[in-house]
Amino acid sequence: MSVRLRVLVVEDNALNRQLVRDVLELRGHEVLEAEDVPTGLALALEAVPDVAVLDIQLPGGGGEALARALRREPRLRRLPLLAVTAYAMPGDRERFLAAGFDGYLSKPIDTRAFGPTVEAFCAERSGGGDG
Ligand code: MN
Repeated sequence: MSVRLRVLVVEDNALNRQLVRDVLELRGHEVLEAEDVPTGLALALEAVPDVAVLDIQLPGGGGEALARALRREPRLRRLPLLAVTAYAMPGDRERFLAAGFDGYLSKPIDTRAFGPTVEAFCAERSGGGDG
């Protein structure tokens, strides 16, 4: 729980972005923010985060396109990818997994559960030991 994570948050809605940032920073994590797909990809390549939290409805191609682009990068192939979406529909889970996501959460986020959920998700997904 005391591990400081570098979390990439790609979200185009400023209020949602601020909420996620506040929740994660209060728990001691470093938060990198982007508002669209190209910026998110560039930031991920530059900063190599521990985990990425991606909105699905995003300018520049959408969260699924961003997930696929991240997965094409050798350095980011194992990056834990969490989708956050307000539009969970039947079949979305399969689509998200096919795009390269490891899991997803529904919006609006539960501010008390969000931090621990991201931490647990990251610990599970990065348990390979390679670092
Ligand atoms: Mn959005």
